[in-house]
Amino acid sequence: MARMPGTEWVGEQSPRVPMERYDIVCVHTIVGYAPAHAAHFSVRRDGHIFQSRDTAYRSAANLDGNHRVIAIENEDHGDPFPTWTGSNVPALTDAQVAANARILRWAHEEHGVPLQLCPNSRPASRGLAYHRQGIDGAFTDGYPGRVPGGETWTTSPGKVCPGRNRIAQIPTILNLAQEDDMAQYADQLDKIQKAAEAAQAAAEQATRMLARQRGRQLAQAKRIRAIIEKGHAATEADHEQLHTDLAELVDSLAKD
Ligand SMILES: [Zn+2]
Repeated sequence: MARMPGTEWVGEQSPRVPMERYDIVCVHTIVGYAPAHAAHFSVRRDGHIFQSRDTAYRSAANLDGNHRVIAIENEDHGDPFPTWTGSNVPALTDAQVAANARILRWAHEEHGVPLQLCPNSRPASRGLAYHRQGIDGAFTDGYPGRVPGGETWTTSPGKVCPGRNRIAQIPTILNLAQEDDMAQYADQLDKIQKAAEAAQAAAEQATRMLARQRGRQLAQAKRIRAIIEKGHAATEADHEQLHTDLAELVDSLAKD
């Protein structure tokens, strides 16, 4: 079972066919409002994330890639998006970009999806992809569709999903996910450094305590020797001091 923390669970919408492996996180656009239950995740325009399917199971968003793709649908209707038609999908909001990055980073940590751009839909390709990479069509906006040997990710050739404005944001999503990843390593490193500093301080304190204790023991031993050297000249008070010092010395040595 794999559900992402901080999302709104609206599943289980899957027929529960298990994933085969985890290679790709794929970005889609809904042409409508979130959630879209065909995908694992849907991101609303304010960045709110719905999870419709446990990532243990396949989505229905990437056709021949469903056995290895974690799918994200993104809302594209409603304020602040302008009214649009055809292929002119507006760009993701900043909140959506950040939410997609969070999902990618989670998929990286939970399922080992690499933090890299996926070059195409070929079976060995891995990383952050967008739906167009598995779609046949004569696209003229600079982002070609499926390459030879690539998996087909739709039954609708020519579909622009997620649109050129959103495809252009794919590198930003990756960068954010990588920064989050680095920030987490920096946090861990910081914790390790603080723990090391605390351990060193404790060791120094123990060393100082031992030095003080050794100083006391040495003083006691010297007093004892001085009294013994007095021999018959030792007074009653000397004998009492001798007993006290010996008792304390034995006690402190026994504690070591
Ligand atoms: Zn799509």
